[in-house]
Amino acid sequence: MSSATQACKAVTVPLLDLRAQYATIRDEIRAAVDAVLESQQCILGPAVTECEEKLAVYCGCVHAVTVSSGSDALLISLMAEGIGPGDEVITTPYTFFATAGSIARAGAKPVFVDIDPQTFNIDPAQIEAKISPRTKAIMPVHLYGQCAEMEPIMEIAGRRGIPVIEDAAQAIGAEYKGRRAGSIGRYGCFSFFPSKNLGAAGDGGLVTTNDADLAERLRVLRVHGSKPKYYHPMIGGNFRFDAIQAAIVSVKLRYLDRWTAGRQANAARYRRLFAAAGLGEDGSVQLPYEVPGNRHIYNQFVIRAVRRDELQAHLKQLKIGNEVYYPVPLHLQECFAYLGLREGDLPHSEAAARGTLALSIYPELSDEQAEYVVASIAGFYGK
Ligand SMILES: *Cc1c(COP(=O)(O)O)cnc(C)c1O
Repeated sequence: MSSATQACKAVTVPLLDLRAQYATIRDEIRAAVDAVLESQQCILGPAVTECEEKLAVYCGCVHAVTVSSGSDALLISLMAEGIGPGDEVITTPYTFFATAGSIARAGAKPVFVDIDPQTFNIDPAQIEAKISPRTKAIMPVHLYGQCAEMEPIMEIAGRRGIPVIEDAAQAIGAEYKGRRAGSIGRYGCFSFFPSKNLGAAGDGGLVTTNDADLAERLRVLRVHGSKPKYYHPMIGGNFRFDAIQAAIVSVKLRYLDRWTAGRQANAARYRRLFAAAGLGEDGSVQLPYEVPGNRHIYNQFVIRAVRRDELQAHLKQLKIGNEVYYPVPLHLQECFAYLGLREGDLPHSEAAARGTLALSIYPELSDEQAEYVVASIAGFYGK
């Protein structure tokens, strides 16, 4: 093959390649699923308990209660606090919908605080001004796999006696000053949606806590508020995690640190490639900011890019996977129009929604693929 032909050889870059990951663990997953099927204990049971014990250790928490999804993890935590109509919960508008959606589903009002433009996480300096007598919780999100600035958040919450519910759906294993995501607030909420760093083969979620009474309350709420069976001291829901999913998550948890190391290595490689291409210092793109001392697990590698929409179209044409997380900040979503917020109210979130782009960062991404991504971006900016 001539070098010219080689240069034209099509490299495709999916945003995420779960089949590449599955190929490496197929036998173990199948054996684990088979064991659950043979046992026919498919709802809660030993596979779920075992998975919870391992997750508690991994997350640095005393208790881990698996649930039906990350969204339900948030909802059940709000329910455990008795949060409902008339209450307010402070959160960020620059996140996946479920964060604020869970607050509204509980019947409470989401109160949005703008983000720090450098980290994309909630700006702690703006929280205090949004606290009212109705504020019943603060729900920071550890966006893209990096923890929010938890120390000032915990300080404000502690002084006011308000619980903190961490939305750690994108941040399993992330650390803030040596502490694991989900172990700092009163609750840590995680998701096993397949595109998260620890994904099931379907939906699933987790709530972590260090409080034994709260863990018990979560376990009761998970089964319709029933304790003992058919007696209902409270109203819960069906928030159970499937045993088959638990068996799969238990297998994948053994590989999580290896995969995280792969994502971190990919991020470091992108930084080298972008620098070598002269991108960055020219202002065309801005690479993700890693707060010193944090363990960033890179659920996403999100850049800011000049002429983002055009760059996105260019990459799509070249079959280079990418995504905008998230194109519309939550305060401007149609379903939250009743909150009365307008364009311009939360400017850093709005600017992030207009200017960011996620690139492939999954552990199996090859040198060739990463080089192609950066070369294509360099080409777009005429480098
Ligand atoms: C994925 C995600 C959720 C919801 O998790 P599901 O398991 O999809 O319900 C909540 N918050 C954030 C920040 C997420 O990324």
